[in-house]
Amino acid sequence: MAKTEEKATLKDIASHAKEYGFIYPSSEIYDGLGATYDYGPNGSLLKNNIKEYWWKAMVQLHDNIVGIDAAIFMHPTTWKASGHVDAFNDPLIDNKDSKKRYRADVLIEEQVAKIEGKIKKEVEKAAKRFGESFDKDQFVTTNPRVVGYYEKIKSIEDRMKAAIENGALDDLKQLIVDLDIADPVSGSKNWTDVRQFNLMFSTELGSLAEGANTIYLRPETAQGIFVNYPNVQKTSRMKPPFGIAQIGKAFRNEIIARQFIFRMREFEQMEMQFFIKPGEEMKWYETWKEKRIKWHKALGLGEEKYRFHDHLNLAHYANAACDIEFDFPMGFKELEGIHSRTDFDLSSHEKHSGKKLQYFDQQENTSYVPYVVETSIGLDRMFLAVMASSLKNEKLEDGSERTVMSIPAPLAPSKAAILPLINKDGLPELAEKICGELKLEFNVQYDAKDAIGRRYRRQDAVGTPFCITVDHQSLEDQSVTLRERDSMAQERVSISSLGPEISDKVSLKSLLKAL
Ligand code: ATP
Repeated sequence: MAKTEEKATLKDIASHAKEYGFIYPSSEIYDGLGATYDYGPNGSLLKNNIKEYWWKAMVQLHDNIVGIDAAIFMHPTTWKASGHVDAFNDPLIDNKDSKKRYRADVLIEEQVAKIEGKIKKEVEKAAKRFGESFDKDQFVTTNPRVVGYYEKIKSIEDRMKAAIENGALDDLKQLIVDLDIADPVSGSKNWTDVRQFNLMFSTELGSLAEGANTIYLRPETAQGIFVNYPNVQKTSRMKPPFGIAQIGKAFRNEIIARQFIFRMREFEQMEMQFFIKPGEEMKWYETWKEKRIKWHKALGLGEEKYRFHDHLNLAHYANAACDIEFDFPMGFKELEGIHSRTDFDLSSHEKHSGKKLQYFDQQENTSYVPYVVETSIGLDRMFLAVMASSLKNEKLEDGSERTVMSIPAPLAPSKAAILPLINKDGLPELAEKICGELKLEFNVQYDAKDAIGRRYRRQDAVGTPFCITVDHQSLEDQSVTLRERDSMAQERVSISSLGPEISDKVSLKSLLKAL
C-alpha cells in the first residue's frame, strides 16, 4: 500500500512516549522533577533490548572484552585523580532581572546559531533567484554579506575558545556584553559575572556525627573501569589489547537540562575502555571508530543519519577524539564519543593511590602503563535516536492515517501480538495457547479488546513487528494470519511455523551477524 510519512518532532516523541508507556516525567504526581524521567513498561523493554545489543556486541562477540558492574559510589580521591573535582565545570551566568541561570557558552553558541540562520536564509533566497544555475559553494565564498557573517562567527568562536581555554571568565562575560546578548526569557541584558559551577552531585557517607566524608555520585562510568583495571586484568588473565565494558547510571548536575531525554541529570552510559600498548593508540582508535559506526548502521535507522565530528579542541587527557553524531529532531548532535585517552587516567590513579597500575610484558621484559581508547555512548540518547527515527505518522492510500513506530524488530518491546478475532467460540483458548508457546522464546502480548483494526493500530503505535490473528479457520486448519507492521502485508501461515517464521527476524542474532 502506498503511503506518505511525516517525521516526528521532539514534542511529538515526548507525548507519544508518555501515552504509550515508554517514558514518563519522574514523580509526575508532584509535577515532576526537572530533567529526570522514568521508563515505563514499553520503555524499559526497549531500553533493555538496546543494552543487550550493545553488551552482546562488545562482550559476547569479543574474546578480549569482559564486563563489570561497579558501584556508583567511589572513593572520593577517584574524582581528584580523574580531574573532575578541579575541572568538571560549566561557566554560568545569571540574569539579575529574570533570575534565570544560563551556561555562558550556550548563550554565545545560540548567538552563533542565529547568524547561521541568517546565512541559510541568504542561501535559500539566492537559490530561488538563480534557479538551476545556482552554485552554493561559489555563493557562500563570494557573497559579501555571507562572507561577513562567516567572519563574524569565526571571530566569536575564536574569542570564546580562548576565554574557555584560559579560564578567563571576564572575557566570556565581555563577549556576552559585546554581542549584546539578551536573556531569552525576559529580554534583559542585566547580567552577573560568569562563575564556574561543578557538575558533580555530592552527598555524605555515614552520619555527620561520625565526621562524614563527602562523596560524589559518579559523573561517568569510566572511572569504575580504571580503578578495577588491575583486578580485572589479573582475575580474567587478560593482556593488552583487551577491553572492559560497563553499563550503568551516571549523574551530572546539568544546568540546562532540556530536549527531553537528550540531556538529563541522571542517565545511563555504556562505556568500554580498551587497554593497549603505548604507541598503538591510533590504530585502535581507527578500529573502534569503524566498529562503532558499523554497530549503529546495522540497525537500519538510515545511514545518512550519522556523521563523525572530530574534536579540534581536545580535552586535557586525549590525543585524538571524535563524536558519532546523530540527526536528532533538533539537528545533528553527539550520540557517542570515541576518545584516545592516552595513559592519563591510569597514571593519575597511580600517583594518587601509590599503587602500580602497570602491565608487565613478559615477552619484551618491560612494564608499561597501558594506553586507553574508549567508546562511550549514552543509553538514553540511543533510545531517543531509535524513537526519533521510528515514530511516523503515515497517510495511507485509502485516505486513513496511522501512527507507527518502525523500531528495528530485535529492539522492539514486544515481538508479536496474539489477537483472537472475536472473544468466543474457542478462539481465545487457541490464541492463549499460541501465546503461551511463543512467550517461552520472546516477549509477546495478548490483546482481545476492541475491533481488530484498532488492535492493529495499537500494536503499530508501540512498534510490535508482528500481529497474529486467530479466526474460525484457525480452529479447522491450524493456520493464522500473520501481519507485518511496516508493510501491513498479511499472509496465512500454519501455527507450527510461527516460531521459526518470526524468530529469525526478531532475534538479536540477525543484527550481531552483520557486525
Ligand atoms: P555533551 O557535550 O552533550 O554534554 P559530553 O561530551 O559531556 O556530552 P561525554 O562525557 O563524552 O559527553 O559522555 C559520553 C556520552 O554520554 C555522550 O556521548 C552522551 O551520549 C552521554 N551523555 C553525556 N551527558 C549526558 C546527559 N546529561 N544526559 C544524557 N546523556 C548524556
